[in-house]
This record gives sequence, structure tokens and C-alpha cells, in this order.
Amino acid sequence: MSHLFLRTLRDDPADAEVASHKLLVRAGYVRRIAPGVYSWLPLGLRVLRQVERVVREEMNSIGAQEIVLPALLPRDAYETTNRWTEYGDSLFRLQDRKGGDYLLGPTHEEMFALTVKGEYNSYKDFPVTLYQIQTKYRDEERPRAGILRGREFVMKDSYSFDLTDEGLAESYRAHRDAYERIFTRLGVEYVIVSATSGAMGGSASEEFLADSPAGEDTYVRCLESGYAANVEAVKTLAPEPLPIDGQPEAVVHDTPDTPTIDTLVAAASTILGREVTAAETLKNVLVKVRRPGGDWELLGIGVPGDREVDDKRLEASLEPAEVELLTEADFAANPFLVKGYIGPKALLANGVRYLVDPRVVDGTSWITGADEQGKHVFGLVAGRDFTPDGTIEAAEVRDGDPSPDGAGALVSARGIEIGHVFQLGRKYTDAFAVDVLGENGKPVRPTMGSYGVGVSRLVAVIAEQQHDEKGLRWPAEIAPFDVHLVIANKDEQAREGAENLAEELSNAGVEVLLDDRKASPGVKFKDSELLGMPLVVVVGRGFADGTVEVRDRFSGEAEELPIGEVVQRIVNR
Ligand code: ATP
Ligand code: MG
Repeated sequence: MSHLFLRTLRDDPADAEVASHKLLVRAGYVRRIAPGVYSWLPLGLRVLRQVERVVREEMNSIGAQEIVLPALLPRDAYETTNRWTEYGDSLFRLQDRKGGDYLLGPTHEEMFALTVKGEYNSYKDFPVTLYQIQTKYRDEERPRAGILRGREFVMKDSYSFDLTDEGLAESYRAHRDAYERIFTRLGVEYVIVSATSGAMGGSASEEFLADSPAGEDTYVRCLESGYAANVEAVKTLAPEPLPIDGQPEAVVHDTPDTPTIDTLVAAASTILGREVTAAETLKNVLVKVRRPGGDWELLGIGVPGDREVDDKRLEASLEPAEVELLTEADFAANPFLVKGYIGPKALLANGVRYLVDPRVVDGTSWITGADEQGKHVFGLVAGRDFTPDGTIEAAEVRDGDPSPDGAGALVSARGIEIGHVFQLGRKYTDAFAVDVLGENGKPVRPTMGSYGVGVSRLVAVIAEQQHDEKGLRWPAEIAPFDVHLVIANKDEQAREGAENLAEELSNAGVEVLLDDRKASPGVKFKDSELLGMPLVVVVGRGFADGTVEVRDRFSGEAEELPIGEVVQRIVNR
């Protein structure tokens, strides 16, 4: 340590909110260069390399082959798939000296599809899985928590190419299993949740989320069945339709000054002479959507009045279309939209697409807008008085909602996405007409899977899950060093003894960080706790009697051992 390129800091960085960020900076593992852009200093780089090693070993074990593609990519391929546009502001775009458009790769489906197309042309070549561990660039709207959400970050991305759907399912399964082994080896607590596909388009998709209150992903789980899903992926358990026959006619009532659900519920309770709940009302939210290459169109969304529209669920349901709220100008241009009193009737009469929450099944009766200022209609029955154009998963999911598998209630938790497995299908092989000669002489089009692991993010995730109030606490598999050997005795013989011990450990294959600095034992102990090696060996006062102290950073337990036994004991752990 007397010549290690390391400075530990006493104070937390001013911009840090989460523990991993504070500790990785204080312990001198990483340094900030710009928002979401970090340097790796020696100790941090060692952890990053360890994570890479584990990921690489498990990828190799499923037969995936490592290659590296450039991060600097020409525009064309991303134009072909429309992602040059679809990625929006998250894409780093740049030009070369001749004015040619380039981007810094955020993910590489296009390039892998083209790479396989370039090399392979027969069914005999398949299946094949390729991967890379490479630096990615995304101009994230909110880079956050140091390396947890960077604008430059290291990802392992792999891509499988199969000729059949069964083959894809097998490649997907192999990746999913490999990911379970990776995260288990790294000592990460995680759940697997079913996910929506995001901007990529495709079918089966699951995310690996590390348990952490610092996470940005909210997911829900059912403790009874083990069901877990991203909030965006939760399918509402729809009730059975109700009989329509015998339901009273819909009636329009004057409900002055009731543009909100609360005011409506109060007015309705007075009118009906009973306590009406918000769940009996149907709230109609207007947005505008634009499909890729299309024009903005109005969309009405009907949800029970006791629920808000969840923007993320709405966006996920409408993807790849964009969604925006209406402006005053939009309302002015569509006078049939009476703000606060919008009902299904005016929407359907004016050709506005109208989608409802899955709870709005046939036979359900609603209090909703009558499309006139200060008026609501009571007893409007779905399937009799209005027929929506379909259903949409847009309403918020709440704790206590029934699990889609019917097994119990949902509870929510937070997590950090550490991996994603995804059956892409033929989106990219279609885009680039990747065809190979089939067994019967006819061309076949491979189907793809894509699979990501947040390699640099994992360093932060592990720090987040494993630290204590004193500092970092690395699991043995990825610690920068196995042993932190502290010389806490000024005596020249003790120093020599420590150096000999370091050498013996090192000869036995144990990686040692030797604190040979001229600093007080107190400073050294504090740093050893902050830096977080799994074992701390102290050559201190006991050295005169032939003993050293071995401290376990995880359990906090300390043991005096005869110096002659230390190497064996550590090797045998
Ligand atoms: P997130 O929802 O966290 O933005 P994502 O859905 O954009 O993630 P993918 O495109 O599936 O992520 O990328 C694969 C993996 O790369 C993710 O599971 C995550 O671990 C990691 N990752 C994604 N974005 C970042 C980032 N900005 N910084 C660090 N790691 C990231
Ligand atoms: Mg993202």
C-alpha cells in the first residue's frame, strides 16, 4: 500500500445518496469524470475484472463464444431498424470529419445480426451464441448513484441464433440458468421477474432484479405462489362478466362543479342517498399517441376512479408508440372533450379510440362523464351502453391486488436490474434479411435471443447489498484481494515477519494487500474496514509471542493464531 495508487477519503462525496456510491468513492475504487462517467482506479478495476471473470466463465460454460464489436458504429444499421430514431435522446450521436453519422453503441442487436449474416450461410452452422463484455454508451436522462446508472458502463451482451422456436427456447433457458449461477456466485440476492420487452419488441422476457431499496425498478410479487413481475408486466385479473338483463337504465344527473373524482363521489353519494365509492366511477383520461412514422392520434383510457393511470404501464402497453398528454390547443381543437366530464359516448361518437381497464367487463355499471359541463351519467353499463375498442393495462398496480395466478395478494418491492434475458424472435434477422440455406434447400431465417448483464453495475450492486456502517465488505469470489495484511507494530522484526507472511501467502496462491505504510494502526484499521477485503490479518503486539490476529470482515470475528498456522488456515478456508 505504500506505493498503491490509492487515496481514501474521510468524507462522503457531496453528490452521493446511496451507500455504494459513497463507499466506492471514499474507498478510492472509482472517481467521477462527468455525470455518469467514471474512472476505475486499481482496487475498483480489480473488482470489475473479477465480475467479468465470473460472467465470462459462465458464458463459456454454455458454449457462448466471445468476440468484441466496436462501440463506435455507423448509422446505417440502426437506421434500418429505426433505432437511430427510436432511441431518442438516449443515443450518443456524432459525426466524423466527413460528416458521416455515427453512434456510440447502446446495445448491439443490429451488429450481431449482421456479423452472423456475414460469416454463416448454412443450417449446419447453427445454433450459435456470441457474446462480448464491452463498454456501452447511453445518454441516460438521470445518471445516478455513481456506476449504478452510468452513461458509460460495461455490459455483457450475448445473442443466440437458432433456426427453430424450440432452439430459441433452449438457448434462452441456458442463459437463464447461467445467470442464476453468475448471481449466486457473486453473492447477490435477486429475484427473477417477468418483464415487458421495452423498445426491442419480442416475446418471452425476464429481468433479474437485485433486492435493494435503492433500486429504481418497482416489482410486485405474490408470496404464496412466488409469482414476480415488473409492474409494467402485471396482467390484471379481470372479473367475470355480469348479466346485463334487468339492470336499470342509465340516467344523467346534474353534478355541478365535480371535475374531480372526489367531488364526483360526494355529489353522487348525495344524489343516490348512499355512500358511493370512487371504484364505482369510471375516469376517462385522454392522451395522444403516435406510432412510428404515423401522426398523433387521440386515445381515451377508462379506468376505475379509485386508480391513477401509471405512466410507465401506459407507455409499456403502447410501445413502440409515443404517448403525450393533451395540450390546451388539443382540447380547443376537439370541443367534444369536456374537461372533467368526458364520457365514453362522446369518444366513441367522435371516432376516438377508447380502451378500458380490464376490470371494465361487460355488465359492470359506472358513474361517468356525460360529456356536458356539470353533468354525469349514472348506471352506464359496459356492453350495453358503450362498447370500448379493447382493454389496456394502464391503471396502477397496488399492494393487495390479486396476483394474476389467483394465488394470493401482490406486494411491492424495489430492485436494481442486473440482467435481462429476452426472446427477440426475428425482428433483427427480418430487418437485415438474414437467411441461411435450410436442410431442404430452402432458405430459413434464424431467430434471436438477446441477453444482458450489467457488469459494472454489479460492482455497485454488490457494494450496496454487502456493506456495513464501516465500509465495503466484498464476497471472496470478487474481492480485489483475499487478505488485507496490516502491519500494526513498529518493530523491525515484526515488519519483516509480516513481509515474509505476505510472501508465503502469495506463494500459496492467496492475493495479499500489504499495508506497509508509515501510518498509525488506527488509520490502517479504519482503511482496512473501508476497503473491505474478506480477511484482515494483523501483525501487531502479539507478534513477539508468535501470534497474529485474523479478522473476518463478514462476521466481524477475530482470532489469535500462531503465525506458523496462518497460511494453512487461510488456504483451507
Ligand atoms: P434499466 O431499466 O436499468 O435502464 P435497461 O432495461 O435499459 O436497464 P438493458 O438494455 O436490458 O437494460 O441492458 C442490460 C443490462 O445492462 C441491464 O440489465 C443493466 O444491468 C445494465 N444497464 C443498463 N443500463 C445501464 C446503465 N445506464 N448503467 C449501468 N448498467 C446498465
Ligand atoms: Mg435503460
